[in-house]
Amino acid sequence: MSDFDILLEKGRNFHGEVCPGIVLGTRVAMAGMRELGMDPFVRNRDLMVYVEIDRCMADAVQAVTGITMGHRTLKYKDYGKFAATFLDLSNGKAVRVSVLLGPPTSSDSSNEGNTKPDMKEMVEKLSKTPEEELLVIEEVKVDIKENDIPGFPKFKAFCEECGDRVLDRREVIIDGRILCKACAEGPYYQKI
Ligand SMILES: [Zn+2]
Ligand SMILES: [Zn+2]
Repeated sequence: MSDFDILLEKGRNFHGEVCPGIVLGTRVAMAGMRELGMDPFVRNRDLMVYVEIDRCMADAVQAVTGITMGHRTLKYKDYGKFAATFLDLSNGKAVRVSVLLGPPTSSDSSNEGNTKPDMKEMVEKLSKTPEEELLVIEEVKVDIKENDIPGFPKFKAFCEECGDRVLDRREVIIDGRILCKACAEGPYYQKI
C-alpha cells in the first residue's frame, strides 16, 4: 500500500467513506505537510491548519494531519473554498494549498442532464491527476494572535449582559460594556 492509500484509509475511517472530497483533502494535506517537511505518520505538535471549507475535504485534512479543534490546531475559515493553509508554529513557515479541480457540484454545467456525478469515477480521477494539475501551493505568511495559539487560556472575561464567562478575548466592548458575542450580535439560537 502506498502512503496515499494508507492516508486515504484514515480519511475513510474518520469520514465514513471515500468520496471526492476525501481524496482532495488527503492530497491537500499530504502536499501541505510535505512542503513543511513534516511526516504525516508521526505526531506533529507544531502543525496548525486553517481549513477554508466545512465539507468532506476538511475531514480528510483532519484525519491525515491529526489537527483538532480541541487542540486549537484546527482553525476554520468560512470561505467556502477548497483550500487549507498549513503553518509550522515552530518557525512560522506556512503554505496555502488550494484545489484547481474540485468535486462536481449540482450547478456544474458539464453535469447538465446527468442525474448524479459518478463518485467512483471522480475518486479515481482525482486520485490520479498529477499534482501540478490539481493543486496550487503558495508560500504565505500567517499572523497568528496570542489568543489563538494552543495552550492554557490566558484571558477570561464576564459578559455584563448574561454573565457568561468568555475565554481568549472573544468578548466585545460596546459603549464601554463588556459583552459576549451572543449578546452583542444576537445569538444563533432562540430560547424557547
Ligand atoms: Zn464525503
Ligand atoms: Zn452575554
